[in-house]
Amino acid sequence: MKIILLGAPGAGKGTQAEVISERLQIPTISTGNIIREALKTGTEMGLKAKSFMDAGQLVPDDVVIGIIKERLAKDDCQNGFILDGFPRTIPQAEALDNMGVVIDKVIDIEVKDETIINRMSGRRVCEKCGASYHLEHKKPSVDGVCDKCAGTLVQRKDDHPDTVKARLEVYHKETEPLKDYYSKQGKLAIVEGQSEIEETTSLILAAIEA
Ligand code: ADP
Ligand code: ZN
Repeated sequence: MKIILLGAPGAGKGTQAEVISERLQIPTISTGNIIREALKTGTEMGLKAKSFMDAGQLVPDDVVIGIIKERLAKDDCQNGFILDGFPRTIPQAEALDNMGVVIDKVIDIEVKDETIINRMSGRRVCEKCGASYHLEHKKPSVDGVCDKCAGTLVQRKDDHPDTVKARLEVYHKETEPLKDYYSKQGKLAIVEGQSEIEETTSLILAAIEA
């Protein structure tokens, strides 16, 4: 199963990807996490991406397309995968098609902008493994500590309110047209993402099995 999760930043793609990954036993590939990892280890790609990311702008297409090519070539992707945060532009979607990757389903998680701005202020991520939490909706067992790896939970620089607004603008302009792109391919399923995490998960699993 090859799945794309679409949706605005903060729509819950990462959280849902973790659950579906576990359920279907396929890896999640998050370009955001890969880039943040590269940043931490200080690779050239990471350095190139940093200024875009911190400003809430997209990293250039050729950089992320390169990342995805490399990642999808690995063994663990052979039985399928979930793409979280890629593609984010029409050229990225076209690159995926040109690579001969046949996507089964594209799930778009719909959440209103105002809800997103609200949610992002409470989001915390694990410094070490990238798992995401929320101060109200998805608390870790111990405040400030990752359940999975005991890493420290921090707020991402790009989760500050002004940056979130910039990211939403970019989303509407660059990423939202992908709904039309995949709808034309007959692959799009739209899922309501405003309510409880578990409810959204059920809707996604139903859409995948449909
Ligand atoms: P979110 O889904 O919460 O916006 P991500 O972790 O997916 O966060 O992405 C964070 C940032 O990483 C983006 O704002 C962008 O700068 C960069 N990035 C991630 N994926 C892509 C992509 N496919 N194309 C361009 N930039 C990307
Ligand atoms: Zn962790």
